[in-house]
Amino acid sequence: MKQGILWFLISKKIKEHILFQQNISHLCFKKMKYSVSIFLAVFLVVGCQKKEKADYIIKDAVIYTMNENNDVAECVAVKDGKIVAVGSNQAVLQIYTSDSIVSLNGKYMYPVFTDAHAHFFGLAYSLGDCNLYGAKSVQEIITRLKIFREKNSHRLWMTGRGWDQNLFEDKQFPDRMTLDSVFPDIPVCLKRVDGHAVWTNTKAMEAADVFKVKKVDGGEIVMKNGTPSGIFIDNATTLIEKHISALSKKEIIELLMKADSICIKNQIGYVHEAGLEWWQIQLLDSMIEKGLIHTKIYAMALPTKENVNYFLQHGWIDKPNFKVKAFKIYADGALGSRGALLKQPYADKNTYGLRLIPADSLRYLLTVLYQKGFQVCTHAIGDSANRWILQEYATILKVGNDRRWRIEHAQVVDFKDMECFGRYAIIPSVQPTHAVSDKNWAVERLGTDRIHYAYAYQSLWQQNKRLALGTDFPVEDVSPLKTFFAAVFRCDYDLKDTTTFHIKERLNRIQTLRGMTIDAAYAAFMEKETGSIEKGKNAEWTILDIDLMTISKEDLS
Ligand SMILES: [Zn+2]
Repeated sequence: MKQGILWFLISKKIKEHILFQQNISHLCFKKMKYSVSIFLAVFLVVGCQKKEKADYIIKDAVIYTMNENNDVAECVAVKDGKIVAVGSNQAVLQIYTSDSIVSLNGKYMYPVFTDAHAHFFGLAYSLGDCNLYGAKSVQEIITRLKIFREKNSHRLWMTGRGWDQNLFEDKQFPDRMTLDSVFPDIPVCLKRVDGHAVWTNTKAMEAADVFKVKKVDGGEIVMKNGTPSGIFIDNATTLIEKHISALSKKEIIELLMKADSICIKNQIGYVHEAGLEWWQIQLLDSMIEKGLIHTKIYAMALPTKENVNYFLQHGWIDKPNFKVKAFKIYADGALGSRGALLKQPYADKNTYGLRLIPADSLRYLLTVLYQKGFQVCTHAIGDSANRWILQEYATILKVGNDRRWRIEHAQVVDFKDMECFGRYAIIPSVQPTHAVSDKNWAVERLGTDRIHYAYAYQSLWQQNKRLALGTDFPVEDVSPLKTFFAAVFRCDYDLKDTTTFHIKERLNRIQTLRGMTIDAAYAAFMEKETGSIEKGKNAEWTILDIDLMTISKEDLS
């Protein structure tokens, strides 16, 4: 995170009706698209009209409003938690006054950031796990695990998250024997960085009684010398994970509060939580209600029996700070563990990847969710999975629909299939940091032809003139500035390696900022309340001492 960033989020009690409805539409903006400068103050003739009282006013700022024209303003007035005026200092201050007028002395103000695809619960759990992110070898992982065990000797299971075999010298999956030699007497389960595979020891496999399991639909039990190697992929991961002795409710609550602090520190106001079970929905709902979590959550429900039963009967949850209006479905796995479903075999192994849901179950779910008015957000990474989901969506959605169904990741999409996003107004929800994290090995999986339509964010943006941008944390870092950096510069954040990845598929700064604010809000049906700094919307913003419209990659890194 950049040093010296000044940030604050001002939110007051939100009321349904906005007071002070005085028409200030004559506050003019200089029309600007894809360029930036502070517009000139507009002279207004208001005579001796008495000024309206605002709760507070922020002036002398560079305000990237992200309104329809991407206008830039310098002053905003707030009443009852809502924006009542935006414009030049002169224009706003001629109409509003306040006992609390703050000057930002030229600092930069953006609509509060939204992370359009993340795992809030996953982040919380990862904080309780051994941190294996960035480990360059199996030995480094063992060292970290030993330290973790010393500090957590009371635990019945050792859990970790973040390993990635692509960072090892041989790039091969590790096996259970390595863990057995150091941890023979305690079950160990380590989640891969993408959450789509686990690496376990023999003790964990015995505890889960998996040796007699031969096959799992939508999953793979990786074999070595005729026996399970200790690596379980996609649907097979639950064979192990359902046996991990759970953390206590108190521990989970503490971890969720830590995850909340991390989001707030990273200037994230809204998170689209990409997949929750029913008990997780209930817990988040009650914690937000009690004021224990301040990040506003738009959650996607997993299609578990409990969720389907509840939501089909009761409809969605729609509270100011907690909404569940979507279902999350997994079509395939991830590229790193070769679970992403491809049209042609992987370039580095003779396999097509995994289909995580049977075709008839998918069609049934899509049909009932459409009838009940739910949004559907389907994880699809491989080109075959993306085509499959686009075709299934197309059989249900009509041209010109406003259902805002999404494809999460849309990572490898054949150019031939892309126009389906535009025709059926399907929103690609993408994570720019994935492009940078995967750039050094994705070509090994896909080969030199398919790589051209992988992480093709500019081509996807052209379909609907918008994308929803997220991080997929804890798969990637929580920082929205890293999302901005990856989308615009498409190279490593630390600039140790400045090689760019398919630079023609980068997004421009406005496209990116909109994807992190108003377009992300749109992808959750929230564009009328947040996502831009406009009259009538929530008074929520991020204030930085850096100008994202002009900053160089050296200064942002
Ligand atoms: Zn995800």
